[in-house]
Amino acid sequence: MSLTTPAYAIHSPTQPLEPWSLERREPGEGEVLIEIDFCGVCHSDLHFARNEWGFSIYPMVPGHEIVGRITRVGSGVSKWKEGDRVGVGCMVDSCRTCPSCLAGEEQYCDSGSTFTYNGKEKDGSVSYGGYSTQITVTQDFVVRIPDALPMDATAPLLCAGITTYSPLRHFGVKPGMKVGIVGLGGLGHMGVKFAKAMGAHVTVLSQSERKREDALRLGADDYLATGDGSVFETHASQFDFLLDTVSAPHDLNAYLGLLKLDGQMVVVGIPDPTPVSAFSLVLKRRSLSGSLIGGIRETQEMLDFCAEHGIVCDIEIIQMEQINEAYERMLKSDVRYRFVIDLAGLKA
Ligand code: NAP
Ligand code: ZN
Ligand code: ZN
Repeated sequence: MSLTTPAYAIHSPTQPLEPWSLERREPGEGEVLIEIDFCGVCHSDLHFARNEWGFSIYPMVPGHEIVGRITRVGSGVSKWKEGDRVGVGCMVDSCRTCPSCLAGEEQYCDSGSTFTYNGKEKDGSVSYGGYSTQITVTQDFVVRIPDALPMDATAPLLCAGITTYSPLRHFGVKPGMKVGIVGLGGLGHMGVKFAKAMGAHVTVLSQSERKREDALRLGADDYLATGDGSVFETHASQFDFLLDTVSAPHDLNAYLGLLKLDGQMVVVGIPDPTPVSAFSLVLKRRSLSGSLIGGIRETQEMLDFCAEHGIVCDIEIIQMEQINEAYERMLKSDVRYRFVIDLAGLKA
């Protein structure tokens, strides 16, 4: 297969994504070439595409929820063979020698891990993501898709899945804990499934009543619409743990007030910064933390957990040319609950 690769790229924050083409490198030592079947659409793609974090590099090919099959292996590749069903998430490399990398938490690499797109590869070139038909990656940043999992509905696990699984595990969510998932989007709906599978009592906090039925179907025990603000009084000091997945600016202090004594809120959504009042924390010895995706080993653990518990994402398949419309719908919280691009159309 040729290394010339059809893709969709964005050239400035105000333009739509459009057809583009790039050259993937021949898999070198320890590298594999993957033909991409599906790629999930993360809200981070939109933040990056529109330069909402201020460090976007154009042209950009977003996409970091990649699943596909190995089509070629470079020399010295021991872990993979042609035909293996694999995934690539938000990182394609890291320094591999710092304490975080040695601990298997490459996302916190001291030198900064190499993002799958909008990153700098070891040779200094810009990385391009999964809105494309193939990708060359080092074998160590590839994970195996268990046979029990379908390819399309597994793609978003590579970011939305691991980003919610990791903090729930790290901060010790246990049976009986009262857990709130704030925002029912791509990340949020996976947070509900994981927290439930870990035995917690799960409440969804969503802006309106619109998603109540879905939340209960996804496994939530309770549902609170936050729109008129009254729940912040009626449910004050009730939660052990909150996972905040919201993509737009919102008042963190209001949510912190929902935590009990020693309760903890973990932020994974990355909107513009919002001020946190010291009072929100000190009054009940509450903690506020953040969490970034998860390491490669934990990503594999999460996929295996999904296979064992029958967990996949709720998805809506789109074609590559629908991506701009998909971004607009994502901004209106009109996704149930993750868009996944079928790359077959781009290969034709
Ligand atoms: P998404 O599918 O668009 O979901 C975001 C949800 O936030 C919406 O469905 C909505 O839920 C809620 N929301 C939106 N605007 C809101 C507002 N003004 N006030 C309150 N709630 C609002 O996005 P996603 O892909 O899940 O990503 C969510 C965030 O996580 C993004 O900022 C993304 O960049 C970030 N992220 C972080 C990591 C990490 O490693 N930390 C990894 C991936 C993504 P309701 O309709 O239920 O209210
Ligand atoms: Zn993502
Ligand atoms: Zn490192």
